[in-house]
Amino acid sequence: MITGQNFIGSKRSAKGDVVFRTINPELNAHNDWESIEATTAEIDEATELAWKAFKEYRKTSDHERADFLDAIADEIELLGDTLLNVYCKESGLPQGRATGERGRTMFQLRSFAEMLRNGNWRDVAIDEAIPDRKPLPKADLRKTYIPLGPVVVFGSSNFPLAYSTAGGDTASALAAGCPVIVKSHPMHAGTGELVAMAIIKAAEKTGMPNGVFSNLNSNGIEVGVRLVNDPKVKAVGFTGSIKGGRALFDIANRRPEPIPLFAEMGSINPVVITEGALKENGEKWAEAYAGSITLGAGQFCTNPGLILAIESDGLDKFKRSLAEKIVKIDATCMLHPNIKSAYSTLKNEVSSQVGVKSLSIPLEVEANYADQAVAEVSGDAFLQNPKLHQEVFGPFSLIVKCANEQQLLTIIEQLEGQLTGTIIAEDSELSELTDIVDELSQRVGRIIFNGVPTGVEVCPSMNHGGPYPASTDARFTAVGLHAIKRWIRPISYQSFPGKLLPEELK
Ligand code: NAP
Repeated sequence: MITGQNFIGSKRSAKGDVVFRTINPELNAHNDWESIEATTAEIDEATELAWKAFKEYRKTSDHERADFLDAIADEIELLGDTLLNVYCKESGLPQGRATGERGRTMFQLRSFAEMLRNGNWRDVAIDEAIPDRKPLPKADLRKTYIPLGPVVVFGSSNFPLAYSTAGGDTASALAAGCPVIVKSHPMHAGTGELVAMAIIKAAEKTGMPNGVFSNLNSNGIEVGVRLVNDPKVKAVGFTGSIKGGRALFDIANRRPEPIPLFAEMGSINPVVITEGALKENGEKWAEAYAGSITLGAGQFCTNPGLILAIESDGLDKFKRSLAEKIVKIDATCMLHPNIKSAYSTLKNEVSSQVGVKSLSIPLEVEANYADQAVAEVSGDAFLQNPKLHQEVFGPFSLIVKCANEQQLLTIIEQLEGQLTGTIIAEDSELSELTDIVDELSQRVGRIIFNGVPTGVEVCPSMNHGGPYPASTDARFTAVGLHAIKRWIRPISYQSFPGKLLPEELK
């Protein structure tokens, strides 16, 4: 079923001679299928076709696009075990996770479909004329939102379905009326091709214009760079590392016509644990955090990489308990040998900084498996060393022992922007938390009380984003229905005859 070809609209194309294979990290061996990188001519053909498709697609009704999104979800489901098996072979993630992530992907698509059918998602505004207003008459003004144009989507390696080919960026852009060109992730090119097939089938079944969706393979940065530079591309959705997101953001802004690039990137997701919580429930929280840090081999953008607490006996007990519990959890396979090697390098770099002490015993693990670990450092050392503030993508967390509350607040204030921040406290301490809540709110996009940051619900009240570098624009979310707002722009119609107005303004 996997051909390795690109999709330029509904046409399969493989003119290039750069061929690559994905890796099965469990077996530490290449998968059987090959993918062929898109050539510059194929990239240009895809953007040209997307531009043509945009002229028709932007005129489709909300109901027509809703039918398209539902059809994509149905076609993904119809791929059945074939999709799940390829997903597992390309990611090392277990079958249960594959099924769950597929469910989430279909749910996202169907949620956007439902929103389109429900009507006023554009939040239109109508101010009728007041011809006899003094001293000047007021004109009839009506504001709606229109799609930006073709959108390029870069997915991340750690969500081969939900943040990839038909993930939240694609679903929200298609819902808005924007054609999508996916720059397929080289670590799950086979999964991407299967999902692309489902999208193309759905487009054909629901009569969408050819070019509403294309999928281009790549085994390096060139395809993505060319796409972001293409004048026919009008916006970009990116999920991945800070390094990649920032590089593409700079390219998008250097273009003669700069375009918005919404990058959702890495984060260390600070967790503040109070003295009361450590004293009363330290064991319980050590258990919960051993689970959260190691969930999915720590390969979540919301993984808790930093635990902040004021020194106390309770903190000493918590540290010991977390270090003991975390090494008892079975090690799991990481997504790719490169991710494993980046994890080992960064973990070792952080662990070897002045003042950092490893708390957990080193684990012996198989080739691409993650050796989970926790370490500690003083608040002073943390404040002085920016290397300790970086994301270690994997099951690693650094405990920072703060001298007092003032130091804890200073650390929060000096943190870079984060996707999430968590506070763990007892009810009896609520009145003492105001400053921590205030300071943390300035640094994060989602603030959690007495829980773990891993797990991102898909619903309108979810915000998944945060101050830079968690994302490039903290005003928007990448998850949930409001993600559609990234792909539309406002337009006002003044004194327009009803016949010429868009449907929602009539
Ligand atoms: P990545 O290495 O940044 O790759 C993401 C995509 O961007 C790939 O298709 C990659 O293509 C491309 N890319 C990277 N650098 C590029 C550059 N300089 N120019 C052009 N294209 C470039 O990230 P990843 O390893 O897939 O994902 C893990 C990261 O994603 C972690 O940091 C994690 O925290 C983050 N993440 C964030 C969220 C969120 O919602 N905030 C969700 C999931 C993951 P090539 O591989 O071909 O270079």
